[in-house]
Amino acid sequence: MSKKLQAIRGMHDILPDKTPLWQRLEKAMFDVCQQYGYSEIRMPLVESTDLFCRSIGEETDIVGKEMYTFEDRNGDSLSLRPEGTASCVRAGLEHGLFYNQIQRLWYQGPMFRHERPQKGRYRQFHQIGVECFGMSGAEIEAEIILMSYRLWKKLGLDAELSLEINSLGTSEERVVYKDVLVRYFEQHTEQLDEDSKRRLLTNPLRILDSKNPAMQDLIERAPRLADSLDEQSCLHFEQLQGYLNDAGVSFTHNTRLVRGLDYYSHTVFEWTTTSLGAQGTVCAGGRYDGLIEQLGGKQTPAVGLAMGVERLVLLLEQHEWSTTKPLAYIVYQGDVAKCKAIQMAETLRDELPASTIVLHCGEASLKSQFKKADKVGAKLALILGEQEIEENTVAIKFLRERKEQQKVPQNEIEQFLKNNS
Ligand code: ATP
Ligand code: MG
Repeated sequence: MSKKLQAIRGMHDILPDKTPLWQRLEKAMFDVCQQYGYSEIRMPLVESTDLFCRSIGEETDIVGKEMYTFEDRNGDSLSLRPEGTASCVRAGLEHGLFYNQIQRLWYQGPMFRHERPQKGRYRQFHQIGVECFGMSGAEIEAEIILMSYRLWKKLGLDAELSLEINSLGTSEERVVYKDVLVRYFEQHTEQLDEDSKRRLLTNPLRILDSKNPAMQDLIERAPRLADSLDEQSCLHFEQLQGYLNDAGVSFTHNTRLVRGLDYYSHTVFEWTTTSLGAQGTVCAGGRYDGLIEQLGGKQTPAVGLAMGVERLVLLLEQHEWSTTKPLAYIVYQGDVAKCKAIQMAETLRDELPASTIVLHCGEASLKSQFKKADKVGAKLALILGEQEIEENTVAIKFLRERKEQQKVPQNEIEQFLKNNS
């Protein structure tokens, strides 16, 4: 027998019962992006592997362990994108978007990482991201944080999420700090787990990000990056904190927050929840002033964030969202009534663009049509039987309220629905 066909492990279908939540999130973010003057950019899902090695960094988990890399028929090494920033910068450089210009961009779509699948962690997952180019001040960092905060408020998630921020300083400051940190951990190698021993040689800052409980004490006592920052970096970070305070956004300064990608500098931040277990980060971002130059462009300041759509949808699910139910389900009997019903459905959709009008399709008794109307959760059934066709009326059955069935002239049905929507 042939093997049962199924989706790839860690890659999921998003079924019709869940898509309303996705759409709610996407629509809310789309509106927020418009409010702040951000334009959408769409990049390919596949890029040359080299792009991610040169941007995210060879020694990161993403590039080192998680990428879907393959050779195409020309023998070129390609990768499914594990995140959007690198592609966005590549696109911006390729099309001259950064040359003496300010850019506020956003994107959305699937990303791919070969991780161990679990709740909130998948191999194909979706991000919505924003990236801003050409602005070096803390106010643009505040702007993207406020944008995300506005989105949480729109979705009713603001009470659920907390903001942590930190400053990674400049790359020069991090070089100095790395030395200090390596010296500290070298004095305690016996307490380092295998991952951290490897990172000590490749990416010592990432040790601070370890989730291993046995390492927490050692990490807690490690020297702080904040103590290696110069006056200017401190001032920048203080400005950001001032803007957030003025806007009434609470945050904590987490001196251990480092992020998994190499290209960050100065501000980094994360929005987290405690209701999703270990996969609690729903949105993360920061400043990456060095990346564009690193990829062959002119020095250009940049900040961005990316949110994990699946994790936000899991949160929305816990909030009992009512999905939009149809206002009316049109049932009919006979061919003449069917033609009338099709026309009526179209007119109603013209007149009530925000409401859902469902037309029954297929042969069925009136009784079974009512059952279908009830099943989709419609508020009203509009009935076109032989008698109604003769009288130019529509019979209306209230499916969710104890009200008598009534008849309305066909030319008054739009108004009737408007009054009852
Ligand atoms: P984590 O620490 O959870 O692994 P990360 O630091 O690797 O996250 P980023 O690269 O910053 O994540 O991606 C931004 C957001 O994308 C994350 O905060 C998270 O919400 C989401 N995300 C990242 N990896 C996955 C995944 N494998 N499955 C689902 N969502 C993910
Ligand atoms: Mg990760």
